[in-house]
Amino acid sequence: MTHSSDCFLQAQEILVGGVNSPVRAFKAVGGNPIFFKQAKGPYLRSEESQDYIDYVLSWGPMILGHADEDVVVAVQQAVANGLSFGAPSVLETQLARLVQSFVPSIQKLRFVNSGTEATMSAIRLARGATKRKLIVKFNGCYHGHVDSLLVAAGSGALTFGKPDSEGILDDVAKHTVVLEYNDRAGVGDFFRFKGDQVAAVIVEPVCGNMGVVLPQDGFLATLRQLCTRYQALLIFDEVMTGFRVHPGGAQALYGIEPDLTCLGKVLGGGMPCAAYGGKASVMDHIAPIGGVYQAGTLSGNPVAMAAGIATLNKYRDTHAFEKAARATQTICEAVQDHLSHHHIEAHIQYCGTMFTLFFSKGPIVHLPSAKKSDEKRFSVFFHHMLEQGIYMAPSQFESNFLSSMHTEKEISRTIKAFEKSLSF
Ligand code: PLP
Repeated sequence: MTHSSDCFLQAQEILVGGVNSPVRAFKAVGGNPIFFKQAKGPYLRSEESQDYIDYVLSWGPMILGHADEDVVVAVQQAVANGLSFGAPSVLETQLARLVQSFVPSIQKLRFVNSGTEATMSAIRLARGATKRKLIVKFNGCYHGHVDSLLVAAGSGALTFGKPDSEGILDDVAKHTVVLEYNDRAGVGDFFRFKGDQVAAVIVEPVCGNMGVVLPQDGFLATLRQLCTRYQALLIFDEVMTGFRVHPGGAQALYGIEPDLTCLGKVLGGGMPCAAYGGKASVMDHIAPIGGVYQAGTLSGNPVAMAAGIATLNKYRDTHAFEKAARATQTICEAVQDHLSHHHIEAHIQYCGTMFTLFFSKGPIVHLPSAKKSDEKRFSVFFHHMLEQGIYMAPSQFESNFLSSMHTEKEISRTIKAFEKSLSF
């Protein structure tokens, strides 16, 4: 038995399923999860002291690679000054200004501790500001585990949501309408039917949570037009895509301005930190100015702020996005060439610094097409990659991520590992 397996056995005695977030348990790919004790640059080091090239990057945040020296120093200095004040500090204003310099549609923002808190607060705000009930979301988009967004079942233009988890009341879920990603006609039909009751449309502008799925031409523009026409708010959940598909997020990549944006992951550079923000006229509905209540004991805490500031400054100054995006493109093009040359029924979808390999015939445009890809084949592939020291997302319906520290050495090792693993 490996040390990791032993750690997992012990963890399962006290932690539910041995983990603190379900996907870490490797259920989708089988086998036991690896336990890690250290991370540096593009590498994770396991309890067995084996190094892996990391394409999970803590599910996205570590775009500068792990334990970046400047970020670590900034955090150490912040820690020495006190872990949390529960009162304002200038660091919050500094990080907010920095965020705004990347995402100018954010006129005002509020920091929170997780992506879930950001989306939960954004939809409460949308309902409070519009005095309407309905939220439109898309099948396969994940917006955190807040009750009214943990609804993805059902397809077809007029399907009302059913909870995706036990413990979520039908009464809550019924105010969430689930439509198909990339189905412009479906969204149009729904808005003609009930558009005047919609508080907000929330969308991953590039989806990463059914694997990487890009918006088709006109999809985001249609959402923008319908929201404007029916006076509903358009919320871009850029918790994953923020700083990852473009320094200004998907809204900069596609030139579509949402009313509200949710950010997380890269924003805190590995510390618990997220934010929601947008038009000042909407944001001013939040307490203490407006009547929509939202608060947090640790929100905007100085350690997370310091990590965020150091991360975003270095991200900008070292062109981290461009480096990571080039590395992503190199890997994806090489793998796609290999797949075509060997007539392997799989293909790779990517955007910026995110990618997913699907074992499917054609491109994936929404969840029903993603579901057709071969999960068993993926599990076999995943374990072959692991044996070669490549740590990928342990599910086919997740995005993989690159950092600016994935250099030619790691890239060529990864491409070789892909080619070998795809031959099984
Ligand atoms: N929104 C998106 C698009 C996400 O990918 C995630 C998490 O993966 C969340 C929201 C929730 O963020 P958190 O896990 O920080 O609560």
